[in-house]
Amino acid sequence: MATANPIKQSLTQLLKAGKTTLNDALSLLVDNTGALNFEYLDKQLLSAMPSSWPAEQAIPLLFWSNKLYVGVPDNPDPALKKTLSDFLNGCQIEFKTIMPESWNKWFTLIGKTPGNVTPAQTTNLKPQLQPQPTLTSQQKLTQLRQQQASSLTAPQGRLGAELEATIEKIPIRQIMATDEGAIANDVRALMGEALSQRASDIHFEPTTKGLIVRFRIDGILRDACRYFSTVQDLRKVVIARIKIIADLNIAEQRQPQDGRVTEVLGGSRVDLRVSTLPTLHGEKCVIRILPHDNNYTSLIDLGMPKSRIATYEEWLSRSQGMILITGPTGSGKTSTLYTSLAKLVDTTKNVVTVEDPVEYQLARVNQVQVNVKAGLTFSAGLRSILRQDPDIVMIGEIRDLETAEIAIQAALTGHLVLSTLHTNDAASTIARLMDMGIEPYLISSALIGVVAQRLVRKVCSCHQEYQPSVEELELLNLSSSKDEVFAKAVGCEKCNGSGYSGREGIFEIMPVSESIQQMIQERPNLNQIKTELVKLGVPSLAHAGIQKVRKRKTTLEELLRVVSITKQGQEEK
Ligand SMILES: [Zn+2]
Repeated sequence: MATANPIKQSLTQLLKAGKTTLNDALSLLVDNTGALNFEYLDKQLLSAMPSSWPAEQAIPLLFWSNKLYVGVPDNPDPALKKTLSDFLNGCQIEFKTIMPESWNKWFTLIGKTPGNVTPAQTTNLKPQLQPQPTLTSQQKLTQLRQQQASSLTAPQGRLGAELEATIEKIPIRQIMATDEGAIANDVRALMGEALSQRASDIHFEPTTKGLIVRFRIDGILRDACRYFSTVQDLRKVVIARIKIIADLNIAEQRQPQDGRVTEVLGGSRVDLRVSTLPTLHGEKCVIRILPHDNNYTSLIDLGMPKSRIATYEEWLSRSQGMILITGPTGSGKTSTLYTSLAKLVDTTKNVVTVEDPVEYQLARVNQVQVNVKAGLTFSAGLRSILRQDPDIVMIGEIRDLETAEIAIQAALTGHLVLSTLHTNDAASTIARLMDMGIEPYLISSALIGVVAQRLVRKVCSCHQEYQPSVEELELLNLSSSKDEVFAKAVGCEKCNGSGYSGREGIFEIMPVSESIQQMIQERPNLNQIKTELVKLGVPSLAHAGIQKVRKRKTTLEELLRVVSITKQGQEEK
């Protein structure tokens, strides 16, 4: 029987749902060496035990079909079974032998040292309950819970807290069956869950405690679950299934590998980019999920303010020149490029791209994948593209002088060129191009404009509104007389408790105006360009972000995570 796990369910709940068998459950709790798997202990059952339960003699493991399964030492006191049974109104007791190492750990949990426990202590036990015949198992448990609740001295309160701390917070994803089909199905189900939570990446990280799975949602990694089993080492098994899905070599575990595959998850087609990396505890695997449908359909959806869209669209309407999109990795540059290209595509234009990798497939666009091994680099690809009579050329990224030079030449000879660069802001893009060795006169005549951008998480509708403090207003250079209302992240079920849902861009859109063109010829330093931008009234990234905070699209906290703002001036990270 295959079961994808029912995260957070106890073994009792799994048994009730028919998702596991008693034998499987017991062997998950105590393996054949007698080692107790503490993570499977049923906290509800533990807290239901009466306060005087002899925890140093008997570990409550599982209550099922009128029987309480308890963990006991190797040579239990012969009277123990009867004592325990009397304790619970004659409930049937079944023993499972627990190895000494597990006992030591248990003693630590219950605040005892192994030395001060002897079988003789059984004599301290006294049946607490009056015999009550014919109680159903459910009634018995209810009764136990009531007793527990009424017991103020409850040492098991301490037990519960310690256990809580011991048991990993990450829910275990159980795969009850060990056959490969079940595991493959479960991995697929997990990818579907990731997609439905809008995750962009899934990380599978081998650790001593199994395979930890994390999702990157809105740019932030978060624990999702953990593959762990006492029956088999799921670390290798799960990674092997992923490798098969991605058509990677499963025998090769010492070399990093990468592959790409198209799958249908939750009814939509996605591309999965899978990469593996050997680490200390085994192969780590990361899956990037690339939905076939580009979610971004318009510049407004990207978060570009209406007031700046006209400027940017005017650049796109030109027949020649270069537009650069800049920002660090994960700042949304690719989405902006694709959205822009989608606007430009029509039957009268030849649109060609050279990318590494091709992330989304665009209709009526000739996309070229960089293949360094085959000699198809950005620059080589670009040269070939230019012999193919293009109108619009998109270069995934300008990384070297050669590519930059060809791109500039193309932009000066009747082509509209779009590309990206890793720079912090619009002004430093010009400095960067000069540093690369491009002549200033070429930059000033080829460059139409620069878009610098970042992504901020949008605050979820569960947010609270508040009036910002004087200090916060001062930091943002806002006058305190205004009635500003900001949003504070709260967290609800919909946003997985994060307080945020989705992301959008903040943009600095810098046109290379006549004054900037002239300035570039004189090899300006960064501050000179920045001063000129302030003079021209070009909103900086920080300024653009502050507008989103004021409109309660995001929080001040989130903005500060992405852009650094100082009182003196506004500088971007
Ligand atoms: Zn929420």
